[in-house]
Amino acid sequence: MKSHVKILATGGTIAGITRTPARSGYHAGQMGIQDMIDTVPDLKSLGDISGEQIANVGSQDMTFEILIRLTCRINDLMKQDDIHGIVVTHGTDTMEETAYFLNLSVNSPKPVVLTGAMRPADAISADGPLNLFNAVAVAADPNARERGVLVVMNDRIHGAHSLTKTNTTSVETFLSPVNGLVGTVNYGKTAYFRFPFRRHTYLSEFSSRFCQPPHPLLPRVDIIYACIDMPPDLIDFSLAGGAKGIVIAGDGNGNMNQATIKNAGQKAASGTCIVRSSRVPTGTVSRNVEMNDDTLGFIVSDELNPAKARILLMLGLSNKYSQDQIQQLFYSY
Ligand code: ASP
Repeated sequence: MKSHVKILATGGTIAGITRTPARSGYHAGQMGIQDMIDTVPDLKSLGDISGEQIANVGSQDMTFEILIRLTCRINDLMKQDDIHGIVVTHGTDTMEETAYFLNLSVNSPKPVVLTGAMRPADAISADGPLNLFNAVAVAADPNARERGVLVVMNDRIHGAHSLTKTNTTSVETFLSPVNGLVGTVNYGKTAYFRFPFRRHTYLSEFSSRFCQPPHPLLPRVDIIYACIDMPPDLIDFSLAGGAKGIVIAGDGNGNMNQATIKNAGQKAASGTCIVRSSRVPTGTVSRNVEMNDDTLGFIVSDELNPAKARILLMLGLSNKYSQDQIQQLFYSY
């Protein structure tokens, strides 16, 4: 049977147009999905391919309203036996956040594969068409099932939990520094190295009822970036603005200065979830290293960077979990 892959388009540089191919200025999210499909030679050789436009934005303008619509559309489509996999085209700036959000909220073992491009569609050596071809090949591949949400860029297959954007302009921007690649894909030929071991998609406690009313209310969670002489009252500013939880993009192993520890500790003691993550690009944040998290009431993000930690904290808070339960989430997802 021919594979049926649905492409859900959200915008990004893969749909961007420059009109001055040798210069760097361009607008993301300009091309429609059908034009993108039509520009990829031989895409139809991979199966029945159809497209749907969910949004057309630069991913710096992605919103949770769009993301919830996207998840629920994916969950609806995945109920159809004749859909084998889904590709989501997306800007690269926030791709890791969307991939991780979908990893927690999609309720299916079938492949969901995000892809994008670092160069606009009409730039010299545009990378989008081959990325889209490879993403469709992975989504059509039964061996990609049960691996959670994947990201295909520049011949690499990344897991949503581990990938991160590391370069502002290079086509080799995404790396999976702590856990490594899930696999590779070369002109549609796939190879797999591992199954992501964290809970995801159909095994996630968030996914089974995510798209059933009442839809979860995702509370505001702010990220505060630690630095030398960090002002401790940034936390007060966030909470006064309505934040229900705080992620600290800490220095090193999730550190912050003494004044901020003191303020954050007071807020944690009165029930606010304070998650220590790190501004460092690789490595884990562990409990009780340079401060006593048990006494202070802090949560550590383990392997999640601040942007992904924020998403997990939002979902944990929407389920009204305690600080201890939320700490366990960071070890499981
Ligand atoms: N700013 C663009 C976006 O995230 C960058 C890209 O897609 O590469 O939509």
